[in-house]
Amino acid sequence: MLDFTFKNATDIRFGKDHIDHELYDVLADFGQNVLLVYGGKSIKKSGLYERVLGLLKGLNVTELAGVEPNPKIASVRAGQQLAKEHQIDVVLAVGGGSVIDAAKVIASAAYYDGDPWDLVLHPSLRFDIDQLPVVDILTLAATGSEMNFGSVISNPDIPQKKGTGGPNSPAVSFLDPTLTYTVPARQTAAGASDIFSHLCEQYFDNNNNEVSKCMIEGLMRTVIKWGPVAVKEPENYEARANLMWAATMALNGIVGAGTLNSWTVHPLEHELSAYYDITHGIGLAILTPRWMEFALNSNTKPLFARFARSVWDQYGYDDMELAENSIRRTHDWLKSLNPEMTLPDVGITDDSNFAAMAKAAVKSGRLATNAYVPVTERDAIRIYQDSMKEFNK
Ligand code: NAP
Ligand code: FE
Repeated sequence: MLDFTFKNATDIRFGKDHIDHELYDVLADFGQNVLLVYGGKSIKKSGLYERVLGLLKGLNVTELAGVEPNPKIASVRAGQQLAKEHQIDVVLAVGGGSVIDAAKVIASAAYYDGDPWDLVLHPSLRFDIDQLPVVDILTLAATGSEMNFGSVISNPDIPQKKGTGGPNSPAVSFLDPTLTYTVPARQTAAGASDIFSHLCEQYFDNNNNEVSKCMIEGLMRTVIKWGPVAVKEPENYEARANLMWAATMALNGIVGAGTLNSWTVHPLEHELSAYYDITHGIGLAILTPRWMEFALNSNTKPLFARFARSVWDQYGYDDMELAENSIRRTHDWLKSLNPEMTLPDVGITDDSNFAAMAKAAVKSGRLATNAYVPVTERDAIRIYQDSMKEFNK
């Protein structure tokens, strides 16, 4: 196991109706001026917007609406301006990972005089300045943003999509599984695929960290079991609750502590979203089995075989057979959730950007040197190419 430090101060309020009794006091403790950040129409359609506004009576509320999926730097710039203009004390994010990711960078940008894209490119700047507290009401189980330090922000003009970190995770996160009942099947599936990918990124790791591996196997089994139930029965509380807590646990730093944390599929996916603005979880579902095929070799075979036994309940003596089975199982489970399992299915029909995307992914993820199985630009192009056609292993 590697050395690590671990500190995560997010206060989690899990379950139904916490917001009705606690939201006002939580916010008022930070101050009177609240910046309410949300996405498109989903919270208005579900009634959550009215409910939250009702709970904020007595506080000064400024709104930043329209944060898009794959949140754009333009939203962060708008939030920065509002935070300064209205002397905001606390940022309240109501939505999924995109809204919470944007809120965290806005919270830093409130104390920064330059362009917030600087903060995305150079996270160290954020550690030299203050950050407003972020409170969130999560409406989608996927990213873990509700209890981590990360944000992923897109700059479509360049085009770039960059992961970045800050000094603080959200101060308080309200996790009410019933608020995810309205998430459509496609987005629920994308969320489950994202959770599963976060777990794979931390599991396929050269470091012998048994604590991490065993926790991840349990979380993987949870997502494999409850993801399909949530897709079919959107108002199944156990399914929504298990997915929500699994999402948080998958990426709040606990299972990654003491591991190398050398992610591969996320950097490859970020380029797909940067160039084509596709849904993050769907991009991951497409890439993951192709990456697994690429990563399986005589060195990695024992871990894939363990994955087959511990996660997919496969038994047998031939490790290579087990390993291949685990990849097929992973693909079939992802396909049972996501009907779009090739790049043409999401509208990417030519390979003209693959070389540039591969170059950017290998550089940003340091894939040629740091990945579990090193990925060169040529390998990355091959993984994108393999994603153009049906997976038929
Ligand atoms: P999202 O982009 O926040 O939301 C996706 C869609 O779901 C939006 O159209 C949103 O609609 C809708 N939605 C959200 N909650 C809903 C609800 N309760 N009912 C109906 N519709 C709902 O999705 P996400 O997967 O949570 O976030 C993805 C982003 O997070 C990507 O940019 C990804 O790269 C990033 N990410 C961050 C981390 C991290 O650690 N911070 C990790 C992985 C990925 P509205 O816009 O109308 O609300
Ligand atoms: Fe992700």
